[in-house]
Amino acid sequence: MINLILFGPPGSGKGTQAKSIAEKYDLIHISTGDLFRYEIGNNTPLGQKAQEFMDKGELVPDSVTVGMLENKMNMHPDSKGFIFDGFPRTTAQAEAFQEILDKKEFTISHLVSLDVEENELVKRLLERGKTSGRSDDADESVIRNRISVYHEQTSPVYNYYDKDGVAKTINGIGTIDEIFSRLCAVIDS
Ligand code: AMP
Repeated sequence: MINLILFGPPGSGKGTQAKSIAEKYDLIHISTGDLFRYEIGNNTPLGQKAQEFMDKGELVPDSVTVGMLENKMNMHPDSKGFIFDGFPRTTAQAEAFQEILDKKEFTISHLVSLDVEENELVKRLLERGKTSGRSDDADESVIRNRISVYHEQTSPVYNYYDKDGVAKTINGIGTIDEIFSRLCAVIDS
């Protein structure tokens, strides 16, 4: 079984790469951002709650996020593994996630972080906002807030996995194919 965490700031290319990696290695792709957008699209109570935070570029509370993630994993009891995209995003999420993994006797094979500098992130997200229909991509101040939330609350998650020796950083600048090859090299190592 392979369980991967694709890590990095908003706009670093996690979603694009996670889809290709899921296909190549036959993994279930779980993007907590996509799950929230699905709930918002269906106007569920969970979606309404998440939207308040997403519109400001802030994180949805851990308890809501972890519960949703666990439900999604439980829907795929026979999977060959998972790729987690945008989760965990706080150390508390990483700790709660560890309990879920322990219960299932799963381990994280690799956490791979995509390294992209801030001005490039803002440029990519504003560009994506022209077609994504995502309100959190349309406003530069919301984008900058998402990046600062990443630095303050999410980047410590890297250290949580680094101490287990499973965290690696790769260059997130290049063509989609180049970055995909770098990721595969880590996964196959
Ligand atoms: P993303 O699609 O990964 O860029 O996520 C979009 C938004 O969804 C984030 O800015 C957060 O508001 C929310 N979100 C996604 N994943 C998480 C998470 N693991 N924890 C808290 N909030 C999240």
